[in-house]
Amino acid sequence: MLGKGRRALVTGAGGFIGHHLVRRLKDEGFWVRGVDVKLPQFEPSAADEFQVADLRFFENCSAAVEDIEDVYQLAADMGGIGYITQNHATLSRNNILINSHMLEAARCGKAKRYFYSSSACVYPAHLQNETGFRGLRESDAIPANPEKGYGWEKLFAEELTSYYHEEYGLDARIVRFHNIYGPLGTYEGGREKAPAAISRKVAEAKPGDTIPVWGDGLQTRSFCYIADCVEGIRRVMESGEHRRLNLGSEELVTVDRLVDMVCEIAGKRLRKIHDVNRPQGVRGRNSDNSLLRSVLNWEPPTALHDGLAITYEWIWGELELKGQARPPKPVTLTPPAVVVHANGSLLGTRPTVAGMLPTAVQTQH
Ligand code: NAD
Repeated sequence: MLGKGRRALVTGAGGFIGHHLVRRLKDEGFWVRGVDVKLPQFEPSAADEFQVADLRFFENCSAAVEDIEDVYQLAADMGGIGYITQNHATLSRNNILINSHMLEAARCGKAKRYFYSSSACVYPAHLQNETGFRGLRESDAIPANPEKGYGWEKLFAEELTSYYHEEYGLDARIVRFHNIYGPLGTYEGGREKAPAAISRKVAEAKPGDTIPVWGDGLQTRSFCYIADCVEGIRRVMESGEHRRLNLGSEELVTVDRLVDMVCEIAGKRLRKIHDVNRPQGVRGRNSDNSLLRSVLNWEPPTALHDGLAITYEWIWGELELKGQARPPKPVTLTPPAVVVHANGSLLGTRPTVAGMLPTAVQTQH
């Protein structure tokens, strides 16, 4: 196994992507340390060791990297568009502290490889004013005009990571994620992203209800399924590539289409009510995967509809346990994967796309 005898650190291991990455690394045979200010929300971590620690403090970063070869820096103060547009100062300060201290700790601790999780939010606003503009290329980010707060910090942290590479020889990877979604992600509370928020609203609705949609619904995005994200992270880490890379899907949809897809999956007819006073982010954003394809000879393969079907079924199951899900129960595809909740009940089966999910998911409540 690729990871046998290797020691990896995943920061942000209590969060959505970090949690999935820990599980993937364990499957590959790595010894894994997870660090986060919180434990994973929906199921126990698969990490060999989990430190609950605040990475804004250098001493905690130092302890996190001790005896570690591969660092995956995924910890960040972040959330959906509502959260990141209302917390510029807090979020920027927190993330500056985490990223600068993690880099310095990795250098001092002699980490062999360092992965930094950046974001499509680094791209200039003026290239995202139209719904159908071409996909964003890595070279578009500078000259800079990124998203206020979160995007500026991500861009500077990319720069800082590359300075550590140039000046200290830190073997760094920098990857820009584009809207990652999937099971075990936040779906309520204000930090959830569009696919999860829409899935929750649809799952809670009765056929014929209205569904609120932020913006006019014509804004465009692409969404990348979590298993593809984790696969991409691992491929980039093993690649030795130092250039900044997009990691996203090129399947562009309007937000209205996203809502329609979820409704189709759910088997519900709902009426959309657009709220143009809510934040909607940039007008259009897509990934250009040319560089990713040329470096990895691979790109995220999962169709949005397939990933959404799995995500919707998981969110519906979570809401059902709280008595908030409304029928119909999502239709499952074959081959089935067993979904077991921690109370022992067999929730049912769910669709799988080859290689995307473990055959059983244990959910903790
Ligand atoms: P997430 O919010 O689920 O996970 C981030 C984790 O970082 C959280 O569990 C949080 O508790 C932890 N964290 C925050 N402050 C911390 C601190 N001071 N010390 C220790 N841990 C702290 O987010 P995610 O979706 O899993 O994102 C992971 C990374 O990918 C982040 O860097 C994020 O900016 C980046 N990213 C994600 C997306 C996406 O669509 N999910 C898109 C672009 C970039």
